[in-house]
Amino acid sequence: MYRCQQCNTVVGPREKMIRIVVETRVKTYQVYRVSKQRGRDGAPERERVATATGTETARELKVCASCARELAAQQVA
Ligand SMILES: [Zn+2]
Repeated sequence: MYRCQQCNTVVGPREKMIRIVVETRVKTYQVYRVSKQRGRDGAPERERVATATGTETARELKVCASCARELAAQQVA
């Protein structure tokens, strides 16, 4: 059981909770190559080989099935 964050009603048990992403942010990832050799401090040596950009979820709503359909239609439009 959970409360829909869109229409604020309690959804009964065995009803699927649907998470809708409503906000994302740009995220920069560093890609490292980890060598098997150990550095002076005993930690494996890492070498940065690439920088990649993508998105990560900033905010998501837990909604019921009918609200999920509504939100999906809004996002497409
Ligand atoms: Zn709802």
